[in-house]
Amino acid sequence: MIKVVKKKIRPVVKFAKKSCVFCKKNLEIDYKKIDLISRYVSSKGKIVSRRFSGNCAKHQRKLAKEIKRARFLSLIPYSGRFQ
Ligand SMILES: [Zn+2]
Repeated sequence: MIKVVKKKIRPVVKFAKKSCVFCKKNLEIDYKKIDLISRYVSSKGKIVSRRFSGNCAKHQRKLAKEIKRARFLSLIPYSGRFQ
């Protein structure tokens, strides 16, 4: 017997389009601005993705670079909670 699989229709969830904070406020991303950069680091020390942060591609790239730079200089931990 052939089993008929019914297709489930997922409800369309519309997200509000987030705008890039750095474009909007014309902020400069710098590894020395720890309070600004640490906002885009999760509690586990991961860099928050573009999907959640809402940054544009250009600024996300720059942000990731500056976070990595800050990590190397031990201004931000590689893993674990930011103190
Ligand atoms: Zn931007």
